[in-house]
Amino acid sequence: MTETTTETTETTGQPVQADIAVTGLATMGRNLARNLARHGHIVAVHNRTKARTDALIADHGNEGTFVPAASLEELVAALKRPRKVIIMVQAGAPTDEVIEHLATILEPGDIVVDGGNAHFIDSRRRESALRERGLHFVGTGISGGEEGALNGPSIMPGGTAEAYQTLGPILESIAARVDDTPCCTHVGPDGAGHFVKMVHNGIEYSDMQLIAEAYDLLRTVVGKSPEELAGVFRSWNEGDLESFLIEITAEVLATKDPRTNGPLVDVILDQAEQKGTGRWTVQIALDLGTPVSGIAEAVFARSLSGHAEQRAAARGVLAGPSEKVTIEKPDEFIEDVRRALYASKVVAYAQGFDMIRAGSEMYDWTIDLGAMAAIWRGGCIIRARFLDRIREAYAKTPDLPSLLVDPYFAKTVSEGQESWRRVVGVAASAGVPVPGFGAALAYYDGLRRDRLPAALVQGLRDLFGAHTYRRVDADGAFHLNWSEDKSEHQA
Ligand code: NDP
Repeated sequence: MTETTTETTETTGQPVQADIAVTGLATMGRNLARNLARHGHIVAVHNRTKARTDALIADHGNEGTFVPAASLEELVAALKRPRKVIIMVQAGAPTDEVIEHLATILEPGDIVVDGGNAHFIDSRRRESALRERGLHFVGTGISGGEEGALNGPSIMPGGTAEAYQTLGPILESIAARVDDTPCCTHVGPDGAGHFVKMVHNGIEYSDMQLIAEAYDLLRTVVGKSPEELAGVFRSWNEGDLESFLIEITAEVLATKDPRTNGPLVDVILDQAEQKGTGRWTVQIALDLGTPVSGIAEAVFARSLSGHAEQRAAARGVLAGPSEKVTIEKPDEFIEDVRRALYASKVVAYAQGFDMIRAGSEMYDWTIDLGAMAAIWRGGCIIRARFLDRIREAYAKTPDLPSLLVDPYFAKTVSEGQESWRRVVGVAASAGVPVPGFGAALAYYDGLRRDRLPAALVQGLRDLFGAHTYRRVDADGAFHLNWSEDKSEHQA
């Protein structure tokens, strides 16, 4: 066994000058602390319940230099200045409690990092409160789950550029790397990091929903078995769709239930749960006026799946298609679904990036969209080959009006549109719900049409509420005298 390199103030008699601290040593904090230690940082570690600290030292103390602390005071005392403390405790009130305690024992210039899944509005509030007390607060999105925390996550830190100067090199050293570039960069001030993490999670919802719809169609309409579909997803993972989520889809579909030896996917209850970041994304998108319809449909699809009683009631009384849809050329339809999936995925990302731009403008964050695509290429759940294309698109044209009009994406999605339409049509005929594919296609058509029926909506609004309308051929707002002589007046 390797000799332990754990040092404590008790064993050495000297205060150990730790580089960084982690408080909160459950799944995420423990793995992040190990990752830091494995990269040569001296890591002070603390957990409210000391047993977790002891377990970390007992199980992994030989992976680097840890300084276990029994209290936050001891933790702070072990740190080099400016002190850097990463909080990895339960989001919400527990995080506030720990921040408040730390704020009373840290000194001006020290840096408090919240690596939990905080709402960006909370991160803005915390940053502002700590700034007034002379402390830096860095709300940091961390994606990649427990595996990423240990082996290299994608890290999205907010806070001041000054804090990033000190903290950044440490975070970059433990992040995933793609093309020798760390999947970590300074996102922007105050809550920018947690905002971007929130949108990342919204895109993740959308991505998973689209994959699930592709699976449902190929299983229901083409009649492929889960095992056969695992092969289809494996082959898709060798092309444009290459991504972590496609890879693990193949794995889930290929897995047998240890009890029945049938496909595992067939014994998993079909009610998807959610922790809330997808919902936050949609709520904030509504405030910002950014139509993230793909993300919204994914959140609603999970909600619908959870309404078991309604589904049971509807199953017996609502009719499905009277004729069975037959696919004459299964291989061609599978290719159609692949193209529809890719096009819908591009729309989901286009909507997510629009939302980041809108948030950045609203809060003056000046977020570099290309840099966000770059740090999502590795470590995180939505890591995918095509993020490199997104990075290139924004690097070439930082003020791109929409990802969909970038020459590469415009060409790819336009080339796939006939497939996309066939797939949505077949799904409707077969009674297979594809809210993700459908919403994405509607968004695509909504963007590209010369005229939208919004003109009629404006007419209706003016008729019942005198809300006025604008004209295509004159400036200003107008109201029609609907109930009398139908004359028009400038408002
Ligand atoms: P949990 O969210 O399950 O939180 C448990 C940790 O919080 C324990 O260390 C616990 O201490 C501590 N804690 C709870 N209440 C308090 C309190 N009032 N004061 C001090 N400590 C408290 O842990 P995870 O590791 O799963 O996640 C940590 C953070 O990272 C969360 O914000 C989570 O949302 C986020 N996150 C999680 C991911 C994941 O995949 N799990 C991915 C990305 C982010 P004790 O042992 O004493 O109970």
